[in-house]
Amino acid sequence: MREEELLAMMTARSRDLPARFGQVLTGPGDDCAVVQIGEQRLLLTVDQVIEGRHFRRNTSLDLVARKAAARSISDIAAMAGSPVCMVATAALKPGMDQAEADALYMALKEWAEHWECPLVGGDTATLASANDPLMLTVTAIGRVHPVRGAVLRSGAREGDGIYVTGSLGGSFEQETGLGRHLTFEPRLKEAAWLASTLGDGLHAMMDLSDGLGRDADRMARASGVRMEMDASAIPKNPGVRDWKRAAGDGEDYELLFAAAGNVPARTESGVAIAKIGVVVRGEGCVIAEDGKLMDAGGLGWEHR
Ligand SMILES: [Mg+2]
Repeated sequence: MREEELLAMMTARSRDLPARFGQVLTGPGDDCAVVQIGEQRLLLTVDQVIEGRHFRRNTSLDLVARKAAARSISDIAAMAGSPVCMVATAALKPGMDQAEADALYMALKEWAEHWECPLVGGDTATLASANDPLMLTVTAIGRVHPVRGAVLRSGAREGDGIYVTGSLGGSFEQETGLGRHLTFEPRLKEAAWLASTLGDGLHAMMDLSDGLGRDADRMARASGVRMEMDASAIPKNPGVRDWKRAAGDGEDYELLFAAAGNVPARTESGVAIAKIGVVVRGEGCVIAEDGKLMDAGGLGWEHR
């Protein structure tokens, strides 16, 4: 089964949750769930990293912990939220000694605190075999932006511009020893600044985990609009020459957003903002190159 179909099925089956449970404001299908607890609206997300899928066997435990924490925190950034705390589970290899397990725990604790999202609990289990992959799962809680509230991926409207922060592609390249997929900085500051600066003009936002093509297609579907992007406007990382790689490699963890009105060319923190397209009436998501239209949804990286 394809991940896309599985996610669509779960989202469809959970669509009635907000009607049945007053505390659920946004259920499955966005970067985080949004839940009401007393006067507070909280964001809730969970993500996992698995050896052999999201990191290599020889990746340092520090970078494994960093990536696990950063992926969940990036989902909080995607809603323009700020982190509150996290809990984690780890499936450890039977041969792992006390010092290694402690190193993994300390690394996760330190990265969690680095992003002001302290690790407040969790659980460990031992895998059946030393050949089974190490797994780390992080559940994070955040608060919504105090003024703008949660920025969903479903709010893009006809007439909006489509924007991305930073530049895309090549996150798995190892020529510097470390891929950006291990060392990216979740765009917490930038997302909060966008929500403060653009206010209600910031209509939709998500983080780019599976590639611009696939993720933009998800935003278009969730919003019930058509998104048209210009291949030549997609910002590429150094060493990435083909826009198809910038749109398809995945694990960029930059922000994709749709907004009305004037959008600055740079965030307060100095991260570039590129306008890459427009939202129009219709459905689907396309990337235009020399007058030819390509289906964006087929370009992204599928987590199998
Ligand atoms: Mg996400």
